[in-house]
Amino acid sequence: MCVDNTPPPPGRLTRRGVLAGAAALAGTSAVLAGAAPEASATSAASLGSPGRGGDLVVEGGRLLDPLTGEVTEDAVVVIVGGVVRAAGPRSRLGTRTPSGVPVLRAHGQWILPGLVDAHIHLNTAAEARDAVLKGATSARSGSTNFYQDVAVRELARQAPERAPRLRAAGIFVTPDLGDTILADPDLAPLARLREGVRSAEALRRVVAVNLARGADTIKTRVNERAGLPEQDPLVQVYDHEQLSTIVAAARRGGKGVLCHSYSEKGCHDAVTAGIRSLEHGAFVGERTLREMRRRGTYFTPTLTAIAGLAESSDPVLAERGRTYLPVLKRAVLAAHELGVPLAAGTDSSGGTVDPIGREVELMHAAGLPALDAIRTATTGAAKLLGFDGTAGRLARGFAGDVLVVDGDPLADLGVLSRPARVVRAGFSVPAA
Ligand SMILES: [Zn+2]
Repeated sequence: MCVDNTPPPPGRLTRRGVLAGAAALAGTSAVLAGAAPEASATSAASLGSPGRGGDLVVEGGRLLDPLTGEVTEDAVVVIVGGVVRAAGPRSRLGTRTPSGVPVLRAHGQWILPGLVDAHIHLNTAAEARDAVLKGATSARSGSTNFYQDVAVRELARQAPERAPRLRAAGIFVTPDLGDTILADPDLAPLARLREGVRSAEALRRVVAVNLARGADTIKTRVNERAGLPEQDPLVQVYDHEQLSTIVAAARRGGKGVLCHSYSEKGCHDAVTAGIRSLEHGAFVGERTLREMRRRGTYFTPTLTAIAGLAESSDPVLAERGRTYLPVLKRAVLAAHELGVPLAAGTDSSGGTVDPIGREVELMHAAGLPALDAIRTATTGAAKLLGFDGTAGRLARGFAGDVLVVDGDPLADLGVLSRPARVVRAGFSVPAA
């Protein structure tokens, strides 16, 4: 059976007007309540425009710049409206801080940019908040069942202290949508397909619905899941042609694809189909890594997730985790040595958010030098997400997202998993 070929009607699919509508409604209700027209205009604007970030001065402590590896003693970071206005040694910036601006003292501590989790599933507001508390001030979604990630992205714009700055993936492009068939009325025609989402038309439709819902990136898979004992992650679910169809559909919307992959053939098919980043990739081989380097394809190994499998109470999953983890670590080191760009991602989902610092530790355990491991969750991941210039460093013009930690991360990466304080867009939030 074939999916109806008519493109989804754009008017019905575009939800971008929802906020504008809400703002207009707020304006209307203000007028009804007898407020002055100017006041109603102000309330409409404040509801429809991003929330202003906070003002904060972080002072004292050692500032690490992941780009250069430079460490600045007795540093000062001045954040105005959620953006770094100045960062450097006190001797250069002076000791005067603008009056009335809150000061976060970090004497005896280390100051880093907030970290980036390049693969996380944020399904609830509580998980979004938890991700920030655990140190991820920017993130890329690995998909959600009902477009919660698109809403989390908006939450981050309106109230940045409550969610990481996010690239949303929308729903998973996968053969069996399950309950996700209910995520959007325009997916309903796919329910008639006995073979699931496999034809070019069906694949294009799921991508089109995602793009219309405002996805920043497209998530798909080449292999079955590792986290379900009844599935074999080495079994391939899409071939090179299907993956190419997904990549082409995403590219038409100006978006890249992240692809859940395990087997070497699956990884190779995904990479040569033109994906932007390879997710998990436990059995990726050298020929595929060389191809990734040539194309600039990123590798997001999600070591945290595979290490988590090894601790599973399910014996199949535990064995899988114990077998895969050393293989994946070797792949990570081989990738790094070949010059394949690496991005840190926890693959957190289902209520528990793992600290992104843990993934940095595991990158180091796989053989990356400490600074290179830190880069996978700062400058490297920021570039993959298109947040370079915003996240990954604390320099003038970058976001006022800060991690304050209790020790030297270059000597002990464990401190990244236990941040003493997280600052998101100039708002100091207590760490978890
Ligand atoms: Zn995932």
